[in-house]
Formats: sequence, C-alpha cells, structure tokens
Amino acid sequence: MPNITIPKNLTIDDLIKEIRSYAKRDELDVVRLAYGFADEAHRGQMRRSGEPYISHPLATAYILAKMKIEVSIVIAALLHDVPEDTQVTLEEIEKNFGKDIASMVRGITKLGKLKYRGVERYIENLRKMFMSMAEDIRVMLIKFADRTHNLMTLEAQPTNKKYRIAIESLEIYAPIAIRMGMDEFKGQLEDLSFPFIYPKEYEKTKIIRDKVIIDEEKYLKDVMEKTRSELKKANIKFYDVHGREKQIYSLYQKLCRKGWDSENIYDIVALRIIVPDIGDCYAALGVLHRLWKPLKGRIKDYIAQPKPNGYRSLHTTVFADEGKTVEFQIRTQEMHDEAEYGIAAHWHYDERGARLPSKEVEWAKELARMQKDILNNLSDLEEMKVDFFRNRIFVFTPQGDVIDLPEDATPIDFAYHIHTQVGDKCNGARVNDHLVSLDTPLKSGDVIEIITDKNRKGPSQDWLKMAKTHTAKMHIKNTLNANKKTWLEAILPRKK
Ligand code: MN
Repeated sequence: MPNITIPKNLTIDDLIKEIRSYAKRDELDVVRLAYGFADEAHRGQMRRSGEPYISHPLATAYILAKMKIEVSIVIAALLHDVPEDTQVTLEEIEKNFGKDIASMVRGITKLGKLKYRGVERYIENLRKMFMSMAEDIRVMLIKFADRTHNLMTLEAQPTNKKYRIAIESLEIYAPIAIRMGMDEFKGQLEDLSFPFIYPKEYEKTKIIRDKVIIDEEKYLKDVMEKTRSELKKANIKFYDVHGREKQIYSLYQKLCRKGWDSENIYDIVALRIIVPDIGDCYAALGVLHRLWKPLKGRIKDYIAQPKPNGYRSLHTTVFADEGKTVEFQIRTQEMHDEAEYGIAAHWHYDERGARLPSKEVEWAKELARMQKDILNNLSDLEEMKVDFFRNRIFVFTPQGDVIDLPEDATPIDFAYHIHTQVGDKCNGARVNDHLVSLDTPLKSGDVIEIITDKNRKGPSQDWLKMAKTHTAKMHIKNTLNANKKTWLEAILPRKK
C-alpha cells in the first residue's frame, strides 16, 4: 500500500468523497456539519505555512478516511483542535455532536501538545499517551493522523522545531504504533521523520531503494503475471497479487544490520498474494514452490506462529525466473487489514461498508493489560523509557529471523520476545552455539537458540532481575501471579 498523499488544496468535498465509499448518507451530513463548525471556530487562524488553520484538521480527518476508519472518529478528527486553540468549548461540541465524539475530542485535548523538553520529560509524555490510550484507543488513532499531517507539513517550521518534532515521532510515536500493530502509521511516521533526523542516510537509502525498484520493475511485473496465471491454473481463488516496496526507514535499519549490502536484502520489493481463506494461503504457497525453488530457511509460517504483535502471513523467498530471488507474502484479506491497521482494524470498514469482525486479537488484550499495569506504576514507565531510548541491538533466531532488543538484553528477554510460551518454558540458551547462563548480555549479530522444557512450570522469581525489557518483565510478573493464583485455588475450598 502506497503512503497516503494529501491532495493540494484539499476540500471538504474530497473528504466526503473518501467517506462516501464506506459510510451511510446521514453520517455524511454530520461530517459536513462538523467541518462547518470547525471552520467557523478556527476562522482567522493561520498555519505557519500560510494556509488557513482548518486545512490541518481537514487533512487529519482525510488521512483517517483514507484508511476507512469509522466516521465518528473522522468527525472527532475534524474537531480535534477546537477546544485547545479556539474560544469554542468542549461543552458546545458535546451539545452539537454528542457525548461520544466530545469524549474523543476531550482525550486529544487532554493529551495536549506533547512538548519535547529533554529526555526526562518523556516519562511524563509517555504517561499521558498511555493514559489516553487506556481510556480510548480511538484517541490514539486521531493523534497518529494529527502527527502524520504535522510531519507532512514540517518544512514550514523553524529548524530546531523540525528536528524536535521528527525525533519525537521516531522515538515515541512510531514505537507505540508498532506495539499497537499499526504498520501503516508506523511506516508513515518513520518515513516522514527520517529525512529530518538523518538527511544523509535518508538520501543514501533512497538511492538504493529507487535503483532496485526501477531495475526490477519489468521483471517483477512478469513474475506477478506468471503467478496470477499459475494460481488460476491451479484453481486457487485470489483477490489480488501486488508489489509492495519496503518502507524506507525500515530498509535503512536493515541496511545498517547487513553492513549496507543490499544484495542480502530480499524484500526491498516483495510480492503479496491476497486470498479468501487460510487454506488458500497454503495452497498458494504450494503453487509457488512447485513453480520456483524456495530459498532455504526463508519459509516462515506466521499463520501457525504469529509474531508477538499479532502479525500473520506466510512468507517465502524463491529463486524465480533467471534465478533471481523474490519474496512472497501470502495472507487473507483479514490478515492484511490487521497487518496494515493493527488495533485500528476494529474501526476499519471494508469496501462494501460492512464492519470487519472485531475479533479480539491476542495483542490487543496484552496491550490492555500493559496499559493497566503502567498507569499507576512509575517504575514500569522507567522501564518503557529505557526500552525506547537505549540503543538497540539486533540478534538472530537460528532460522535467521531478526529480533531487535535494547542493549544489555539477555536470553530471557530474547525468549519472551519470541513468544510468552518460549519465555515461560525457557530452560537454557545457546549463543553462537555455546551454552550460556540466562543473564548473559547479548550483542548485535548473536545467534540465539532457546532451549525449552515443556515440563517447566514457569519463570522463576530471579528472572525479574535478569530481564531488561519491559515486555519480558511484564510477562514474568503475569505468569508468576497467575501461578500463585492457581496454587491458591488448588488449596482453597471452591466457592459455589
Ligand atoms: Mn492538530
């Protein structure tokens, strides 16, 4: 999916046109009303770029509409800066648009403008972010869209402010988007911030990416064509076969890990196959492997074993025609939406205007737990801050998957980043084929194998000291508490 672009001189009609594809007629009327209301309230205000202020809430709403996000959230986005920047109050918004929309606007206002005043201030900022998330994740969606548009128009800001907003987006917003499984926003926030923080690296990465895209364009078109016809021949239904270019910041990170050797990066452009159901995913994989030889160690079944943030897909890299390597990602429409929108998939509508099944994904529950933990626990916030700001190291699973962790992370952290089950059953670790103790600090490039024991009851108390990441500590605490509870339940008489 290409990045969202905002049309020049965006108007309310452009917004309506986007929303019309998935909303009801009477909802469109409320969108117009909200636009009129915000336009009136911001009248006379200008952005630094010289545009009337209303262009900003309008663009924020447009970004959400492009993602087909529920209309009430788009309406709240139109109104999001009204109480903060104008004379019009929240009460008036509530009177005109109801409690639900007013509460989202209140959330945004409470979140305020996160101001960068040095690293120590981040704790406060993070607290605010998580407070608002715990109250209403829809508020975060608006905040992400708001920030995305601010980054798109960052050029008009003075130099120091440019840098501050960009680094804050990269260091705070993007990591939160990743944890929410929202690849679409994460990618946008990173790619928009990147050139302001590391301009030279940005240029260098862009040149590498553009070269691959141009060189391979015709070749990949042929591969896609062949894929489509082979799927048809095999009677496998599919909705779409398309190419996706790797986000530029994520390519930059990978280039850093691989010593800037783009030959070893197989997914600068990947091909995606979207199919109706899970059975078709495996059938399509079979077709590809009959046609082209798969590259060893590059077949990944994230359907049977989803990534910790809930990501599901089948990945494979094959030697396609002329022996060139091509990565394929195979998934259902539902998996696709979840991958792009993460938690937002719950407020996303499909083309026909039907709401997607709001299946409770595992990470959504985990997130809710995490928020609760964090709210009243400053030490957790310290841990989160450490996770965000410590330098990252990149280590590998024996299958070659890359896991990023903060510096000084241990095999315990690694195990819990693979999966809670792997963590809980962890009994030992090999680093680069040598047995090590579980508190050994890991280094970038290490290959780590976790030895599990399925009879193991769970983590031990002293792992809390060995773990460095918030995720691992949280899981250890949770399992320890749950074990205590089961133990109590076993020895206490059951209540009827
Ligand atoms: Mn705003």
